[in-house]
Amino acid sequence: MTKNNFDTSAIIDVLKKCLPAGKASIGLHEPCFAGNEWKYVKECLDTGWVSSVGKYVDQFEEKLAEYTGAKRAIAVVNGTAALHISLMLTGVEADDEVLVPDLTFIATVNAITYCGAIPHFVDVEERTMGLDPNKLADYLLEIAELRGTDCFNRHTGRRIKAVLPMHTFGHPVDLDALIEVCQKFHLELIEDAAESLGSSYKGRHTGNWGKLSTLSFNGNKTITTGGGGAILTNDEELGKMAKYITTTAKVPHKWNFYHSQIGYNYRLPNINAALGCAQLEQLPDFLIRKRALAKKYIDAFSSVAGIRVFEEPAFAQSNYWLNVLMLEDNCRKYRDDVLAATNNNGIMTRPVWILMHKLPMFSNCPKMDVHVAEDLEARIINIPSSVFL
Ligand SMILES: *Cc1c(COP(=O)(O)O)cnc(C)c1O
Repeated sequence: MTKNNFDTSAIIDVLKKCLPAGKASIGLHEPCFAGNEWKYVKECLDTGWVSSVGKYVDQFEEKLAEYTGAKRAIAVVNGTAALHISLMLTGVEADDEVLVPDLTFIATVNAITYCGAIPHFVDVEERTMGLDPNKLADYLLEIAELRGTDCFNRHTGRRIKAVLPMHTFGHPVDLDALIEVCQKFHLELIEDAAESLGSSYKGRHTGNWGKLSTLSFNGNKTITTGGGGAILTNDEELGKMAKYITTTAKVPHKWNFYHSQIGYNYRLPNINAALGCAQLEQLPDFLIRKRALAKKYIDAFSSVAGIRVFEEPAFAQSNYWLNVLMLEDNCRKYRDDVLAATNNNGIMTRPVWILMHKLPMFSNCPKMDVHVAEDLEARIINIPSSVFL
C-alpha cells in the first residue's frame, strides 16, 4: 500500500483486516446483549410490570445519575422527547430562536420546532465536528443585541434564547469556550448528549454543563433500551419538573386524577428500563472495546493515502460511538466510491447527515456562514463500530 494514490480497494482491504472474518454483512452499530437483559426483561413479563410503573424505571434513573454524575436523570420514551422537554423547561417559547449546529441528526432540530421556536444554524469546527464556540462568538458580536437580560437577533427581531450543541459521534464540543459565549450573550445551554454517553470533557461526563441535557437509548446508540432517552440536570427543581411533566403532570394521590397543567406521556416503560439497567452494567466494558476498535482503525488506516480516522479532541475522552473515516481535502470526490464499494462488500458505511439548512422545512431558517459544516459533509464516512467487533 502506498501513501500516494487514493485506492478504494486498499480501504476495503484495511477494513476487512480490522473486522471479523466470515460474516456476510457487518452493520454500522448493532446492539450487544451479553449480560442480564434476559433476566431483567423476563422478570417484567413474569410479574406483569411491563408498563408505566415498576422498579426498573427508578433503578435506571438512579444508575444513570450515578454514572454521569448528574444530580437527576429522568428516563423518557426517546431522545427527541428528552430534547423537547429540556427546551421547554429552559424557557424556550414560540418565536424564540435556538442556536444549533447545522451538522446534526434531525432530532436536535425537530425538537426546537416542537416548541414553536426557530432553529438558527451555526457552523462546526473540524477539531470536534461539533459547534464552533469562537465562530459563534464572532457571529453574535455582529448580529446580537442585549436588551435587559435577553439577547435579540438584530436582523429578525426575535429573541435568541438558547444554544443547543451536539457531541458529534461521541466527541465533546469545547464546552468551556461555549459556556463563556453563553454567559456573555445571556443564552441558556442545553447539551444534546444523545451520542456521547460515556464521553467526558476535561474529566467530567458530558451532559453536566447544560441547564438540562439529553441522552438517547435508540437501538443504534452505545447502550439501548429498544427506544428510550433521558434528561439530565444538576438543578433539583428542574429535575422534579421534568419528571412531573413527562408523566402527565399528575399530582400524586392514592386515587384522584388531578393534573395541574398540560403534561406529556413521555415516561419510559418499565420493560425498556429493565433492558437499560442490564445494558448500563456493561457500559464500562463496552467503552473499553470501543476504544480498542478505534485504536485498531487509527493504526490500520495510518498507512492509507487520502484518508484518516478521526481522533478525540485533546480535552476529551470520547466514547467513539461511531468511528469516522475523514477524507482528505483533495480526495472528497471519492466519497461515494468508498460508500458504494464498502456497502457492496457487506461492510455497512454511511455518509454524515445532510446539513439541516438543506432540508425543505428548514431552508428558510436563519444561519451563519457554514462552510466548515459543508466541508465535513463531503468528507465524513462512518464505518462499523459495534462493541463486539
Ligand atoms: C439519536 C439521536 C437523538 C435522539 O434520537 P431518538 O431516536 O429520539 O432517541 C437526538 N440527537 C442526536 C444527535 C441523535 O444522534
